[in-house]
Amino acid sequence: MSKGTVFVLSGPAGSGKSTVRQRLMEKGLNFHYSVSDTTRKPRKGEQDGVDYGFVTKEQFEEGIKNNRYYEFANYTGEYYGTPVSQLTPYIEAGVNVILEIEVNGAMQVKEKDKNAVLVMLLPPSYSALEDRLRGRGTETEEKIQKRLARAKEEIELFDKYDYFLINEDGQIDECVKQLQMIAETQQYKTKNNPDFPIKFLNN
Ligand code: 5GP
Repeated sequence: MSKGTVFVLSGPAGSGKSTVRQRLMEKGLNFHYSVSDTTRKPRKGEQDGVDYGFVTKEQFEEGIKNNRYYEFANYTGEYYGTPVSQLTPYIEAGVNVILEIEVNGAMQVKEKDKNAVLVMLLPPSYSALEDRLRGRGTETEEKIQKRLARAKEEIELFDKYDYFLINEDGQIDECVKQLQMIAETQQYKTKNNPDFPIKFLNN
C-alpha cells in the first residue's frame, strides 16, 4: 500500500487558511486534519482537542523533551507543534494528512519528508491582509502589528513552497478547487508510485 501524503498549508493569519482547509475536508477526500498543540489561550468558540490541544508552557516543553512533536515553532511568543501521533500513524496507513502550520514548522516538515507538499495561501495583497486582521476584531493592536511583521518574514520563504494560492475576496470556493486539484495531482507523481514499474511489468 502506498503511504499518505503530507500537505502543509501555510499563510499569514488572515489568509483564510482554516476556512479553505475546512471546505477542502468537506469534499470527502481521504484527509486527516492534524490537530496541533499550542500554549496560546483558546479564542471564543475554540474547543480543546478539536481546534487545538491547549496545553501549558510546562506541558509543551515536557513534550519537546519526550519527542512528542514532529515539528514545532514559537510564533508571536507562544508554542505551536504537530504531535507525531497526529501524523505518522495516518501516513503509514495511507491516509493523507493536512497540517495548517507556520513557515518554520513547514521547513522542518520538508526537511523530514521530501514528498511533503507545501502550499502557501495568501490574501490578494499586504494591505488586504491588514484590513482582514483588523476586521476580525479578535486581536489587540500589539498582536496585529506582530502578525503583520511576521507576514513580511513569511513571504520571504515563498520560493521554498511548492505551490501558492491567492485567496481573493469572495472567491474562497475557487481557492478550495485549486487546492483540491493540487491534492489530486499528487497521486500521479512518479515518486508517489515507486511500485508501479514492477506492477506494470508483471501484468
Ligand atoms: P493561530 O494562533 O492564529 O491559531 O495560529 C498562529 C499560527 O500558528 C498560524 O500561522 C498557524 O498556522 C500556526 N500553527 C498552528 N499550529 C501549528 C503547529 O502545529 N506548528 C507550527 N509550526 N505552526 C502552527
